[in-house]
Amino acid sequence: MSTDLMSVEHFTLRRKGVAVLDDVSLRLPAGQTLALIGESGAGKSTLAFAAMGLLRPPEVALEGRLMVGDTDIASAPESKLRGLRGTRMGMIFQDASAALNPCFTVLDHLSEPLRRHRGLSRSACRTRAVELLDSVGIADPQARLSAFPHELSGGMQQRVMIAIAMACEPELLIADEPTSALDVTIQAQIMSLLLERVRALGASAIFVLHDLALATQVADRVAVMYAGQIVEEGPAFKVLNHPAHPYTRGLRASAIEFGAERLEPIAGVVPPLSAMPGGCRFAPRCAYATAQCSAQRPPQVTHGEVTLACWHL
Ligand code: SF4
Repeated sequence: MSTDLMSVEHFTLRRKGVAVLDDVSLRLPAGQTLALIGESGAGKSTLAFAAMGLLRPPEVALEGRLMVGDTDIASAPESKLRGLRGTRMGMIFQDASAALNPCFTVLDHLSEPLRRHRGLSRSACRTRAVELLDSVGIADPQARLSAFPHELSGGMQQRVMIAIAMACEPELLIADEPTSALDVTIQAQIMSLLLERVRALGASAIFVLHDLALATQVADRVAVMYAGQIVEEGPAFKVLNHPAHPYTRGLRASAIEFGAERLEPIAGVVPPLSAMPGGCRFAPRCAYATAQCSAQRPPQVTHGEVTLACWHL
C-alpha cells in the first residue's frame, strides 16, 4: 500500500471568522498527481496556498491537520516551513510575469534556492542553472541566464518558473492554474513539460485547474470543490467520466471540453462566503435538493474508490 505524501483531516481555514475552507479531508498518495477542480470561489487556490504554508495565523485561523510528509503545515513554526518551501515543496503560480522579480536575471532567480537550500557556490549555481533551463526545454540556456523576465515570452517565463520550482527536486509540486495566463498553443506544451518533470523526479503534484478534460489527462486523482468543501474525490478517470455528485455532473455537462452536443450550465452562482446556506451548500442550485439537504450537511462517505458528500446519490 502506498504511503500518503499529503493528508488533510478536517481542515478549516477562516478569514475574518468566515470559513473559506470548511472541514476539508483529503489524501494524496506519494508519487501521484491530484487536480483540484471547481468554479471560481470554490477554495481550490486557497487550499493550494495553505498546503504551501502561505496562509497562516494571524491572517487566517486554522483548525484540523494538513500534513505534508510528517510535518503539520497548520501548526509548524514559520522557520520550519521556510526550510520546506523550495526543498521538499515547490510552487508554480498562475502568472509567471507577476511571480518573477523584474529586477533579477534568470540566473539570479535560479541561484537563490540553489544557494540557500543546497549551499552551492556561484559557479556551481551557474552550471546547475544551465542544466535546469535545458531540462525545461529552453534553447541556448547559457545565453538565457543573463535575461531579465521582460525579455522572455510568457511560455518561457513559465518554463523558468518550472525550473525554479524543480531546482531542489521537491517531493511535492503545487501548480496554481499554471497555464491560464498563456496562449492556448503553449498551454499543452507547458502542462506536458510539468508532468514530465514531476514524473522524472517521482514527485507528487497538485494542479489547480478549471479545465476538466485537462484534469483527466494530467491527474491520477481529482477533488471536486464547491464553496470551500470537497464534494467528490477519487480516481480522475472515474470521477470525471462517471461523476456521481450532482455538482460534478453539472460541471461536466457545462464543460465545453467534453464536446457535449448541448451545454447545460449549472443554474445560479456560488453563494458568497458571508451568506453560505446551511445544510448542503449546493442545495440552492441542485435539482435534487430536499428538505433534508437544506437542513443537514451531508457527510463524506466512501463508495468504492470514490468519496462523496450528498444525501441522495
Ligand atoms: Fe443536491 Fe442534496 Fe446532494 Fe446537496 S445533498 S448535492 S442538495 S441532492
